[in-house]
Amino acid sequence: MEKYINITLSEEVEEEGYMNEEISRDELEGSIAKLKKNSAPGPDNIFTELIINAGDSLISTLLHIFNKSIEEGRIPIQWKRANVKFKKSSVLGKTMERIITTRVECYVESENILDIEQEGFRHFRSTTNALLNLTQSILDGFNLDNFTLAVLIDFEKAYDSVWREGLLVKLHQYGIKGKIWKWIQAFLNERNKKHPGTVHLVLGNQPIKYNPNPKLLGVTLDEKLTFSEHINIIEKKAGKSLGILREIKGIGNIKTKFLIQVYNSIIGSIFLYASCIWQTGKEEHLKKLNAIQRKGLSICLGVSATASLEVLQVMAGVLPLDLRREEMAIRDIARLNSYSTKIPIRNKIDEWKNKETVDKFISPLGLMLQQAKNMKEETDISIDDIEPEYQFQGLQASKSPPEYWRTLGSSKNRTKEQEITGKNLILNKLNTVSPSTVVAFTDGSCQSNPGPCGAGAIVIFNNKEIELKQPVSKRGSILLAELVAIKLVLDYVSRIENKTLIEEVKIFSDSQSAIGILTLNWKIENHRSTSHEIISLIKSIQKHHGIKINFDWTPGHADVRGNEIADKLAKEAAKEANQIQKEAHITVTKQDIKTAARILVNKKWQHRWDNSDTGRFYYNFHQTVSKKSTFDYPDHKTAKIIRNLRSGYYLKNYQNKINQNIDPKCECGQLETVEHYLLFCENYEEARQKLIHEIYFNTGSLHIDLELLLSIEKNDNVSVSNETLMRLLGDFICESRRFD
Ligand SMILES: [Zn+2]
Repeated sequence: MEKYINITLSEEVEEEGYMNEEISRDELEGSIAKLKKNSAPGPDNIFTELIINAGDSLISTLLHIFNKSIEEGRIPIQWKRANVKFKKSSVLGKTMERIITTRVECYVESENILDIEQEGFRHFRSTTNALLNLTQSILDGFNLDNFTLAVLIDFEKAYDSVWREGLLVKLHQYGIKGKIWKWIQAFLNERNKKHPGTVHLVLGNQPIKYNPNPKLLGVTLDEKLTFSEHINIIEKKAGKSLGILREIKGIGNIKTKFLIQVYNSIIGSIFLYASCIWQTGKEEHLKKLNAIQRKGLSICLGVSATASLEVLQVMAGVLPLDLRREEMAIRDIARLNSYSTKIPIRNKIDEWKNKETVDKFISPLGLMLQQAKNMKEETDISIDDIEPEYQFQGLQASKSPPEYWRTLGSSKNRTKEQEITGKNLILNKLNTVSPSTVVAFTDGSCQSNPGPCGAGAIVIFNNKEIELKQPVSKRGSILLAELVAIKLVLDYVSRIENKTLIEEVKIFSDSQSAIGILTLNWKIENHRSTSHEIISLIKSIQKHHGIKINFDWTPGHADVRGNEIADKLAKEAAKEANQIQKEAHITVTKQDIKTAARILVNKKWQHRWDNSDTGRFYYNFHQTVSKKSTFDYPDHKTAKIIRNLRSGYYLKNYQNKINQNIDPKCECGQLETVEHYLLFCENYEEARQKLIHEIYFNTGSLHIDLELLLSIEKNDNVSVSNETLMRLLGDFICESRRFD
């Protein structure tokens, strides 16, 4: 309390430093970009949409008001009060609050003020991290024959029970001073204190209740950490969600592809939450979840729920659950590995790697690292090469691109007309260029993605044309190549001796992603180090030589000469990339990990499918698991019948195996199998003759068999497309009237 009295709350002196800088337009737009649409207005009656769609003048006005609020340390009362009816707070208040909290967050992170173990309310931290930390410690203990007693304390109404004055003193001690401190003071002082909320925490006098199954951050723990209880709970929860799926399907005529998407998102979110932790559970427990997967996919596909789960998964293109967990676990461990060693979970990983004893119990990190090792063996992609995560950068609105980025199509579908418009647009831009401007065109090329890639550029200045090219990597992405091409130009400009002649550098790239990252604050998901290198290179050239660096998008393959030359150079460089003997250490991106993890699990899935005992009838028509079937062709109903015929779990002979009361015979007296229906039943001979005639017309052969009619994979011996065959089969099904 004494310290509190020593700071005169009202006479705080002005402080310098970025915390007290004026709010920038970028910050404001960044904060607005994070607002949620479609919410009811707060007490000031201002709708969120108004702010989201604010034009230039409104943004400027808001900026003025916000800066005034900081300057004077005053906050309009409506910004703090919630609309009682809708429990909504003011959108302006929220926008401003986010700007201030982001500044405080950046400061707190850069000054290492928070305890390193704290996982809540922080960037690069998550509930998974906290759960992993705890479960890993418990299992490490098991391996040393120790046990862990955890005390879980839940602070209710943590916000409302904070001692405000104490908080202000703390902030001040940590260096959050000046105008921003005054603003926070005003914010806290007048915020309605409706819930005084007290914390009753008695540790000494009263024994804490023992709970063998505490729920922590959505995961139910148990004494042996088998997760059997947790798996039971999610099994029930997912079971209930199947009801939602049935209801959606009941609306009628819902596309199969859409139903599978719904299944993946509602069930997937239950089945995958923190799954890297509980995937260490016992096989017999985990297997229970398969029953839900079988029911769910059977609903989506309209195929009998008695069908083999393996068939349903291959047919729907949905990974088996254990492989899906494995895929996610690899992505999780790669993400954790990209963190700085300041973050505790990262240290736990290093600890585990350096440990010399052998584990008796499998721990979450142990299993994840094993899975990652497995991926390295299969794909040569290692999580140890992942590029490090950059520090949280604060608020920056990603800006929308200019209109013409959208109207000129993409290089895949550009029309002749768009090509001409694009070309003229670039030529006009080139015509207005002054002699003191360096013009450059850049391009990247990849033989496959990821694959051998190269960068090319042409620099035009002083009536001279300089061609630049560089092989980038044997295993790079198109974006990396595009970025390196831009870097080639900037490096070249840095080397020009007499820079005083240059006023501006204008770089034309055909990569919207690259320009977006470099100039529009688009989120940098991949190739962070290269992107950040270029951004600092741009800043450095601008600062030291006063040269403006501008970027412009040029449509690729639109007959723009500079772009064509850059394209040619990049292709040459990509070819040369094949010859790279020893690759300089290249980091892998999150995208690379995602691709590699998918390759690994698909390989395993394929191996299982090739060697399985079940679903062999369907296997004849669908061998490659990664091959997707066409779900709703030629129409929803016919596609479903074809799907069922392929599965083999169909028609009376099969139904009789499930239910003895059903007669296995066709009307003609023979057993009704798929083969009988399609190839032999005399009742459908007329329809069949039409089918044979049509197939003869398309292929020149009179022969039909099940493989020809039902396979979803391209049959090399037949010149006709699968779609045509499905359409013809659909006609047969319709004419046969078997399913009317
Ligand atoms: Zn028959």
